Amino acid sequence: MNKEIKKNLKIVKKTLEEARLYGHAASVLNFDRLTACPKKAREAQGDTCAMLTNQAFQLGKEKKFVRAFTYLYENRGDLDKYDQVLARSLYRNYQRTKKITPKMDHEFTLIENKAYVDWLDAKDAADYALFAPSLQAVRDVEMKRISLQKDKKDPPYNSLLDLYERGMSETMLDEAFGECKERMIPFLEKIKASGRQIRTDFLGRTAPVEAQARLAQYLLNLIGYDFDRGALSTTEHPFMDDLAVDDVRVTTHYYENNLVSSMFSVLHEGGHALFGQNTPRAHYKHFIDGEKTLGMHESVSRFYENRIGRSRAFIELTFDKIKELFPELTRDVSPEEFYEAVNLVTPSLIRIEADEFTYTFHIIIRYEMEKEIINHGAKIEDLPKMWDDKYEEYLGVRPSNAREGILQDVHWSDGFGYFPTYALGNMYNAMYYNKMREKYDIDRLIRDGNLDVIRDWMTKHVFKKADRLDAAEWIRDITGRDFTPKDYLDYLEEKFGAIYGL
Ligand SMILES: [Zn+2]
Repeated sequence: MNKEIKKNLKIVKKTLEEARLYGHAASVLNFDRLTACPKKAREAQGDTCAMLTNQAFQLGKEKKFVRAFTYLYENRGDLDKYDQVLARSLYRNYQRTKKITPKMDHEFTLIENKAYVDWLDAKDAADYALFAPSLQAVRDVEMKRISLQKDKKDPPYNSLLDLYERGMSETMLDEAFGECKERMIPFLEKIKASGRQIRTDFLGRTAPVEAQARLAQYLLNLIGYDFDRGALSTTEHPFMDDLAVDDVRVTTHYYENNLVSSMFSVLHEGGHALFGQNTPRAHYKHFIDGEKTLGMHESVSRFYENRIGRSRAFIELTFDKIKELFPELTRDVSPEEFYEAVNLVTPSLIRIEADEFTYTFHIIIRYEMEKEIINHGAKIEDLPKMWDDKYEEYLGVRPSNAREGILQDVHWSDGFGYFPTYALGNMYNAMYYNKMREKYDIDRLIRDGNLDVIRDWMTKHVFKKADRLDAAEWIRDITGRDFTPKDYLDYLEEKFGAIYGL
């Protein structure tokens, strides 16, 4: 390694080290704000967080730093495999934001903050008109951001996709979602026509919170979560936060009359956490631990929530524990009934409550609308009808108001392009599940409680290179095949075909 490279690497890493300290402090405060912090102190604590985050942001704008990573990027052929990723990532982000002045950035933030408040009011009142002007403004910000990028993409929506899912394009998604519609719409009709009744009455029975907390602990231990390098807390909305290399935390929310809500959100966030806890240490050392895409992350969380958690084998493995903790709730329930209840297919209006089968429709609807909004300048006032029509077309349900329709999700108050990653996650994990199956009888591993073997396989194949590769390369690296929704669709048809006797 020549002297110039050494010198510039030193500058870059020193800055990143400092930025990481600010970032770490901000994350710890933020975690506290969302969990233990008293309500009245939250706003002030948010201000402290914002100050720390801004310090880190400023560091990233320093000329010396920019010059140093630009040099590294231009000479990336001489860097090791980790620093190559780092140089590429810093350079890409810089290209994306360098024409955005601090003043513009501040204006954008204000627009998004207002949009969030307007969205809350509008949702509360189920009145889209209260949100529409802000939504228009957010769209304008998004278009402005796209126009300021150095490497413009065509169509513009690809710029947004690339932000969340490096290497994914509209063409690939159109094809994948097209196949989904082709197979899933008629299959859903068959499910509806099957007349199969699934018992779910017991799911609403009382499940004491202390017992739910013990179940959460048990489940996290079972999947191989390391409590010495993590913690479990409660919040309004469950999430995972990797605060530091040895501090990857999860949160959940317990509802007394909804046992499965926390049960599956713990598995979901626990999946995210396993990804964080088993990221190679070298990635932290080289500041590339945050390079995994959202789709990769969602693939792992949904793998643990659905492929593992909602499998018959997993319900059989855990049912004794569930019976022991919730004797009243399970007094007249068999493992098979429990399995079927957590896999009930029922077309519904609300994405976050959707079952595993109909979930993808919720994403397809948002994806198709986002393309209309970004690529084709759809009129903001026409969106609610477009939304309702699509729900009717794909799911056979129609919202009776905007709260259960277009206003249900927070995402559009700060931009577009995020939703597809949720569906991609399901498709990725179906592909690597099949790869894992070449080596293991996965159901057998689950029944025997050998979840550590699964975690280790994930570490070796799924987690190892995630930070270093684009999504399309990553899935090819794991499976030896190009991205396809086929495995996912086969899985859905097989699983739900069996449950519904099709
Ligand atoms: Zn998630």
